[in-house]
Amino acid sequence: MWARAVGTLVASTGLAVGLLAAGPAEAAPATSSPSTLGSSVDQAARAASEAMLELAAADSRPPIGRPGDYGFLFGDAERPVRWNPCRPITWAFATDSLGEEVRVERAFDAASRAAGITFTQLPDGSAAAVRVTLQSAADASVSGDGGMHFTTVGLVTGKGLPVATSGYLNAVIGAGSSEAMRTSLYLHELGHVLGLDHVSATDEVMQVSIDPANPLTRYSAGDLEGLRRLGRTAGCQNPPPAAESVRVAGRDVKPVYVRSQPGRGLPTFHPTRILSFEWTQPPARPRVMQTLAFQVDRSNPADESKWSPLPFDDGNLAAGDGNMKATARIGGSVPCRDGDQFVLVAYNVYGRTVTPVTLDSCLR
Ligand SMILES: [Zn+2]
Repeated sequence: MWARAVGTLVASTGLAVGLLAAGPAEAAPATSSPSTLGSSVDQAARAASEAMLELAAADSRPPIGRPGDYGFLFGDAERPVRWNPCRPITWAFATDSLGEEVRVERAFDAASRAAGITFTQLPDGSAAAVRVTLQSAADASVSGDGGMHFTTVGLVTGKGLPVATSGYLNAVIGAGSSEAMRTSLYLHELGHVLGLDHVSATDEVMQVSIDPANPLTRYSAGDLEGLRRLGRTAGCQNPPPAAESVRVAGRDVKPVYVRSQPGRGLPTFHPTRILSFEWTQPPARPRVMQTLAFQVDRSNPADESKWSPLPFDDGNLAAGDGNMKATARIGGSVPCRDGDQFVLVAYNVYGRTVTPVTLDSCLR
């Protein structure tokens, strides 16, 4: 399991300073003192922003900016690291919403529309996938950072793609900051939460810093195109559903002689057991690319290290969906026993599903 997170945005009204994302711990530059200079600028900005927010809510004008001005935090242009857009993402204020609840909700709504992803708000303090932590400050600046954590979900094939599993939006809200600046900050950090990186263009929300004289209160064309590519239209990221109606039948067959090396040494005597698995694999998107079966050590069924892989005759591979069948031929001294336990593990690039199976017949 691995995780990284970046994304920092800093803006102040007196001195527009942006810090490039380098880590989650960056904060506003301590050398500048924006509040004195900022307050007069801010009064005007705040008055203007009230109108801008109203405008943005009903704004049907085409977005500013250019569709090509976006970038991704992780992955590459074709396969950025993203959330599974086909499941709702929960979010919650970590502690207090500081009166910002409606503004933050609107930012989530805007991100939801852009990405085609459903966000579900949970009560404050809940263990949500995305945690929103707001702090107040006495000055007129806003600053924050946002990002995602992701993981490659237990894949053994080496073909797995990472999936975002959690995110965070941290913001410090100056008492004298304008509403437009706060909206711009929330939109920006949510862009990071969904996987957007900074851009050098200055007419996108994902630019490095907020222009206090003209904070962008809605996503621009590049932001929207990036969010679209991170969202629903890029497809689901679901691990396969569990297999249905699995049946496994076992049969002890006549012992056979096996030479460990052709032409050398004495042949050894092996009892052989044949296990046949039949199951229905529900359709998955992306489709199942591999199914493996393991015999489970009864003494500790939960301990995956004690699962013994079964060698399927057809190469230990069953891909796709529908009615599936596979046969394993195993050597060993333990005879077939009714009640033996197995697991069927189905993989696609986004995860795996473990289906417990109990041997339902043991023929001799
Ligand atoms: Zn940023």
